[in-house]
Amino acid sequence: MGIINGLRPLEELFSRNDGYPTASSTIQANTERSVYELFKEVKDDQTVDQVKLDRDTHIEYVRNSLDGLNRYFVILDASKPWLCYWMFHSLDLLGYEIGSDLIKRGISTISKMQNKTGGFGGGPGQISHAAVTYAAINTLAILGTKEAYDLIDRDNLYKWFLKLKQPDGSFIMHEGGEVDIRGTYCVLSAATLTNLVTPELTAGTAEWIKRCQNFDGGIGGEPGIEGHGGYAFCGLASMEMMGKSDMLDIPLLLHWASSLQMQVEGGFQGRPNKLVDGCYSFWVGALFPVLEAILTRQRYKKNEPDEENLGYVAQSLFDREALQEYILIACQYPRGGLIDKPKRSPDHYHTCYCLSGLSTSQNHVIYDIEEEMEKGVTNPGARSLLWAEDIAGTFVIGDPENLVKATHPIHNITLPQVQKIIEYFYGNNIDSSK
Ligand SMILES: [Zn+2]
Repeated sequence: MGIINGLRPLEELFSRNDGYPTASSTIQANTERSVYELFKEVKDDQTVDQVKLDRDTHIEYVRNSLDGLNRYFVILDASKPWLCYWMFHSLDLLGYEIGSDLIKRGISTISKMQNKTGGFGGGPGQISHAAVTYAAINTLAILGTKEAYDLIDRDNLYKWFLKLKQPDGSFIMHEGGEVDIRGTYCVLSAATLTNLVTPELTAGTAEWIKRCQNFDGGIGGEPGIEGHGGYAFCGLASMEMMGKSDMLDIPLLLHWASSLQMQVEGGFQGRPNKLVDGCYSFWVGALFPVLEAILTRQRYKKNEPDEENLGYVAQSLFDREALQEYILIACQYPRGGLIDKPKRSPDHYHTCYCLSGLSTSQNHVIYDIEEEMEKGVTNPGARSLLWAEDIAGTFVIGDPENLVKATHPIHNITLPQVQKIIEYFYGNNIDSSK
């Protein structure tokens, strides 16, 4: 449907308020106005069909940063594996060929963050942390060589994961650290890619995640905490990796997630009554392919669909056109990189997640439910391999060249890189037949 050529004139879309402005309502109105002006220009000039992803400029922005970052990045000293992941994943999505020199440098950099625990720290000599371990393993998966995979110390990594595990099924972010649903997702994603998921690792985890879902359908960082786009992604993706998604209230989560798409901006907010932000294009956007898979699977199990309706239920669970309009018209920085919202500066986090969201809205990535129903799934690796592109469902606004590579809705690395690392670590055990 989209915003620019949607059913209602742009001017009718602005949020209404009660005439008593507050700091929040004012900043919301200003944000709507800044996006509206960009959309109006495109609409008036009738140039929606010419909207372009500035691929080369974004590649140059990321590529230059890989050659060295300026001193302001010192604040990300504890996030080095994240920087690697954000940059390499952006390049991969954009179709940039990561050459052997860069692969070598990437492996060498990540190796310096590895600890004897098997986990990775945010920088050399820093303690092992679940989030940067996820980023390090995703980076190695993107680099995609035997040398990259062999860096992973699976025996110790598994022991360290168990140290993060709590009696209630949750995970802490680092030894002595806080419980957080991000820890659960990061451990499960890394363990799924490297064939380390066991009943011991996941005992009680699905029950704990279920407790993180709130009355409104959103999922919070721990039980009793307000729902949030990033936490919801972590919760749903974790459940899906364990094959336990049905324990969540899926219709309520869908209702909550759908309500986060903004009516003027087209992008997502991370929580109700917050501002739109480009990074939620992935954190919230990627909930939809997973929800689509779950809803379709539920209908299969109930034998509900007739032949006609047997397909995937919901390419339209969110407005893919509106999200692309937001990312391409409001989130591209002219000198390269993507941004949270207009008038902000680019950074590698937002570049990565705007592009990941763009990928999620352009490519229709579906889960092979028939394969699962017919043959069963023996392990989480096999489950992750059942995600594939439905080429007929690709949808691109503007220049057809805007299409970026398809990302995996659970691990957020491109589909071929997921396949390669899983096949490497599971070997012959990956056969999904029982
Ligand atoms: Zn953001």
